[in-house]
Amino acid sequence: MLTIPVFAQSLDERVARELPDLVETYKTLHAMPELSTQEAKTSAFVAKRLRELGYEVTEKFGRYREPGTTHYGIVAILKNGDGPMVLVRSDMDALPVAEQTGLPYASRNAGVMHACGHDVHMTTLLGAAKLLAELKAQWRGTVMLIGQPAEEIVRGAEGMIAAGLYEKFGKPDYAIAFHDWAALEAGKVGYRSGQFMAATDSLNLTIRGVGGHGAAPHLTKDPVVMAAETILALQTIASRERSPLDPVVVTVGKVEGGTKRNIIPDEVRLFLTVRTMSPTVRERVLDAIQRIPKGIAIANGLPEDRGPVYEHLPAESIASTFNHPALTERLVGSIGKELGEANVVVVDPSMVSEDFGLFGRNGEIPTALLALGAADPAKLKDGTQPGLHSSKFAPADPALVLRTGVRAATAAVIGLLPR
Ligand SMILES: [Zn+2]
Ligand SMILES: [Zn+2]
Repeated sequence: MLTIPVFAQSLDERVARELPDLVETYKTLHAMPELSTQEAKTSAFVAKRLRELGYEVTEKFGRYREPGTTHYGIVAILKNGDGPMVLVRSDMDALPVAEQTGLPYASRNAGVMHACGHDVHMTTLLGAAKLLAELKAQWRGTVMLIGQPAEEIVRGAEGMIAAGLYEKFGKPDYAIAFHDWAALEAGKVGYRSGQFMAATDSLNLTIRGVGGHGAAPHLTKDPVVMAAETILALQTIASRERSPLDPVVVTVGKVEGGTKRNIIPDEVRLFLTVRTMSPTVRERVLDAIQRIPKGIAIANGLPEDRGPVYEHLPAESIASTFNHPALTERLVGSIGKELGEANVVVVDPSMVSEDFGLFGRNGEIPTALLALGAADPAKLKDGTQPGLHSSKFAPADPALVLRTGVRAATAAVIGLLPR
């Protein structure tokens, strides 16, 4: 009689064996979403599992700028002899979205939903954690798994770095992560070498004028009219101030001003989000957003001390996500070997943002964030696939997405930590 020895099992066979448990874990996590900075139960769940798998787990590692807040960061270490260290990150927070998927395992926390797939990321991390612990004979070095809170408000990664993640646990040689992707079909992994996700800048502009009676505009400097001019003029940044090959988005998402139809107010406030890819373009766009409103104020005859007030909110801004080309190439190689080259494809960059790049500490550590396909191919084709952050978003085929994610993550780490 022939039996297949355990060590000869392929990675896919091992993942297939874990799959029912992984799908259960995913459903559990999906049903218990928690908002950014409030991931108490989620982080306890993930930490407990990692500890059971033999990882050295530290909980509540990280700090926010606000005193008295708890940072639910998890650091889980698995040492396996001398060799490089690989950081693998999963985010853990959910969104203030009321779920409308109709799934039997839909959110049981009203008004909160895993609409960005961080439940998929956590389950993938746990699956890879298990296999890496089992397959110690195939790699050497150290694995550092990160459970990161508060990704959606881009604060969690910063809080872990600020608390001395690398000083305390050692500096990784590579940092990688996966994000589920609604523009890529389930079963595939996507990659983009170089700039992958945009930088976000949150800005407030206060357009000041001189208020007065709505029937006597000549005695005022109307900030509503100036705000209107400003909003339109800001759109010329994207069309006239940068190369058409450099993507830029300037959105005024909120306008606030005035009290009554016949009163010209003293000021109008504009709330902006700005997205850019390259750091130099980012700088130029932010400069233009300061310059243009100033020019409009001067053109409207305002004295200098009534010029516009520009406010940049660093806590709600983040640099772009850059995928280190050589690292990306290496990951594509090892994941392609595992999943088949046809299942590892180039994806378009996206103007959404991520704080994962902070783990690279300004290029000191090569980082790569890969896309994990989560779309239903039929829905992708006819344009009905719900996107991330939608109340109807859920991975098309969770078992397939998890199977792909765990295989990819495990193969990626083993590929970076060769024996
Ligand atoms: Zn998100
Ligand atoms: Zn996300």
